[in-house]
Amino acid sequence: MRTSNLSAQPCRRSPVRSFPTVRHDPANVRCDLCGGAERDEFIRGRDRQHGVPGEWSLSRCRGCSLVYLDPPPTPEEIAGFYRGVGYYAYEESARTFREVRVSRLKRHVLRHWYGYARLGLATRLGRIMAGAARGIVSTRNVIPWRGEGRLLDVGCGVGSVIWRLAALGWTVEGVEMDAAAAEVGRRHGLAIATGTLEETALPDASFDVIRMSHVLEHLPSPSRTLAEVRRLLRPGGVVYLNLPDISAWNFRLFRSCWFPLELPRHLFHFTPQTIARLAKKCGLRLARLSHNSGPGKFLESWQYLREERARAAAGKAALAAAPPGPRMQDRRWLAVALKIPFRMVDLLGRGDIMECELEPVADPNAGGP
Ligand SMILES: [Zn+2]
Repeated sequence: MRTSNLSAQPCRRSPVRSFPTVRHDPANVRCDLCGGAERDEFIRGRDRQHGVPGEWSLSRCRGCSLVYLDPPPTPEEIAGFYRGVGYYAYEESARTFREVRVSRLKRHVLRHWYGYARLGLATRLGRIMAGAARGIVSTRNVIPWRGEGRLLDVGCGVGSVIWRLAALGWTVEGVEMDAAAAEVGRRHGLAIATGTLEETALPDASFDVIRMSHVLEHLPSPSRTLAEVRRLLRPGGVVYLNLPDISAWNFRLFRSCWFPLELPRHLFHFTPQTIARLAKKCGLRLARLSHNSGPGKFLESWQYLREERARAAAGKAALAAAPPGPRMQDRRWLAVALKIPFRMVDLLGRGDIMECELEPVADPNAGGP
């Protein structure tokens, strides 16, 4: 079985462009989505996850309701938000690069339900087996086959997702800002470029699928990067985005303790409305949007709230004060009990995490097929 079909290809490397070091003048800050300067303070908070010192402010644009870190941090400041904090996407576990095994039954399911023509049996028997196995075999994170199966993962970390997708037949590439994480993936034969997507300068219309999982909210200019994604997408291609939804009910409940606020690493916060507007601005359209959160963010936010209260009770001198008992997210029985209620919240469109599919809008200037 093929575990990576790019191991022999050279990796593209590009020099890291130097950025201006001046801090943004608050009077010159413009909304990345609508270009407006008028905004209101939305919420203030601190880094509850990795303890980067300081307090940050999010503003909401009066023109389009985009929420963003204000003032926008410089590239050097952004780099400091990740330095030495053990960011999860950059860590390689012992299981990350183990051999991917796809069962015979799953191959039938992938062929007949997800368009993987090279897998499973094309016969009637294969179709019957696929129908019988569909509800049994896990297809979580499976991407339906598209075009020639060329896929780019922007912000791929060490490349754990593209490693698994390569085993399903995708021709995969990744782009990663963190040089050490990208190097880990390259050591395992993955084609991962170091830098921003804009710096890698990949050819026009070169991918059938581009995924950005929990990436867009970390970028200094989501509109600039998404426009670049649009340029790289082939006709008939699709962009998969996962990101927090600040119109979630849990945000209203927990405010600055809402786990996905992730200050200061999340520079932007979107809603279904602002993500649709951003897509349109970048020559894409929001084809599908759903929520897939479960109770995890609720429990993690609840834990932040408990820590906040314990800290308040202990006084400012006891910054390390921890509430008694196990963390909320470690109480398995609670997670199980809340699974169905939070599935309902997701179905009502008020969950914490959005899953979006963006499709290219035909470009009248494009010379493609
Ligand atoms: Zn705006």
